[in-house]
Amino acid sequence: MAERKQIEAKGFTSFLDHPDKNGISWIRRKKDSSCFFLGKNNKCTIYSVRPAACRLEPFTIVDYDYEKNSIELELDFPFVCVCPGVFDGKALPVEVIGKAAQIIMQKILALAAKDLGLSANDRGVAPEARARILRRRIEMADLTF
Ligand code: SF4
Repeated sequence: MAERKQIEAKGFTSFLDHPDKNGISWIRRKKDSSCFFLGKNNKCTIYSVRPAACRLEPFTIVDYDYEKNSIELELDFPFVCVCPGVFDGKALPVEVIGKAAQIIMQKILALAAKDLGLSANDRGVAPEARARILRRRIEMADLTF
């Protein structure tokens, strides 16, 4: 929600699709299927407030040690960025990547809690969130063969 507010503060409205079956609202796509915010010069028009998912690229969350509150990231391989606006040519500070990973992890935890009908800090939520991350990793590995 904080990310959405930051984007709205830039003057953008109606940039989200209707929520999908998992309750996730994705940024709208243009007719050529590129992101609503991708400018003509292939630059992100909301770069300073782009969502955490864009800041995290090209890394992926591959594990979550909830006992230590530690998030494990991996560089995507093959190295493919979904959007050409993800980078502005400068190296990303590790703090930016870490913060993005934390924001995404909170979203995964919130979704798991919602699906389980539990509060976000219930003891059953973190293991379920981790299981979802590991399942996705297996699914992605399946796709690479
Ligand atoms: S980085 Fe790309 S996908 Fe992300 S908001 Fe910007 S234009 Fe959209």
